[in-house]
Amino acid sequence: MSTIGRIAHIGIAVKSIAEAERFYVQGLGIELDHTEDVPEQGVKVAFLPTGESELELLEPLSEASPVAKFLEKRGEGIHHICLEVADIEAALSQLAAQGAELIDKAPRRGAEGKRVAFIHPRSAHGVLIELVEKA
Ligand code: ZN
Repeated sequence: MSTIGRIAHIGIAVKSIAEAERFYVQGLGIELDHTEDVPEQGVKVAFLPTGESELELLEPLSEASPVAKFLEKRGEGIHHICLEVADIEAALSQLAAQGAELIDKAPRRGAEGKRVAFIHPRSAHGVLIELVEKA
């Protein structure tokens, strides 16, 4: 069995991180840890630590970004939930064995150089799930 840890972060799709900071940073007073471009996923991300977890604001880098398509279809809002796992390969093979639809059959590089993989919302009752391997 794979070992699921904490909710690493909740991903929120936004049109503009600079704009969203007015609410999350200036308004709620959450500290902005850092921003980073993740070209592999077509996004700029901002990490806002909230206790054990973080909020991850996602802004599309281009019109071709999956997050740009998400914004077009659904508007701003919760995009995915990221769960920490001890062994990402073990988690993926367990899910595959259960018939889950994996967007990433093997881990890829996510923000902060961490190993991540996405699971299709069709298999997760409407929620896009990201797994991240514990550093
Ligand atoms: Zn994420």
